[in-house]
Amino acid sequence: MNFLEERIVKDGVIKPGNVLKVDKFLNHQMDIELFNEMGREFKRRFEGVEINKIMTIEASGIGIACIVAQHFGVPVVFAKKTQSINLDGEMYIAEVESFTHKCTNQVIVSKKFVNPGDKILIIDDFLANGCALQGLISIVHDAGAKVAGIGIAIEKGFQSGGKMIRNLGFKLESLAIVSSMDAESNTIEFMPQ
Ligand code: 5GP
Repeated sequence: MNFLEERIVKDGVIKPGNVLKVDKFLNHQMDIELFNEMGREFKRRFEGVEINKIMTIEASGIGIACIVAQHFGVPVVFAKKTQSINLDGEMYIAEVESFTHKCTNQVIVSKKFVNPGDKILIIDDFLANGCALQGLISIVHDAGAKVAGIGIAIEKGFQSGGKMIRNLGFKLESLAIVSSMDAESNTIEFMPQ
């Protein structure tokens, strides 16, 4: 098991409905040293890939993306889920279905912060059905920029997102891929990497 898989086994909580709770270290309380190790690992996995910006989606992707960005020396832009008066000028907007909240959100990025020619690494905490990623990918493409790669902390390999994104030809790297989990027996298994 790698460092993230070990941490999931130690501190993750399996909930009914195929939800893995990792709020002790990933998306509520955040273990920054763990994020740092994730940053080192993404840097290794995307060695030689040209990247000039990281994109993520609020809220839980932001912390991870910021620490990962330090390893790449690039800025982070995060997609917002709500319109606000602080979001002015022209915007790219995509519709995204939320796995955890069971509703449809818009994801919004100001046109100022994604430009043609950008080579973007997309970072997020989870990959389930791939809806969040599809929204981010469509914004990158609308801007005439390129998805240089996608880095995910935890992919739920028994849901369809990973396969769909890999079939589209993207370089997708997930640090932990859960192959099965069971709330009743509190067991979790990972795909060998
Ligand atoms: P997708 O769009 O790939 O179906 O779902 C990805 C998003 O849903 C992630 O950004 C994450 O916030 C949330 N998500 C999906 N599955 C889980 C899960 O098992 N646990 C947690 N905590 N969040 C999840």
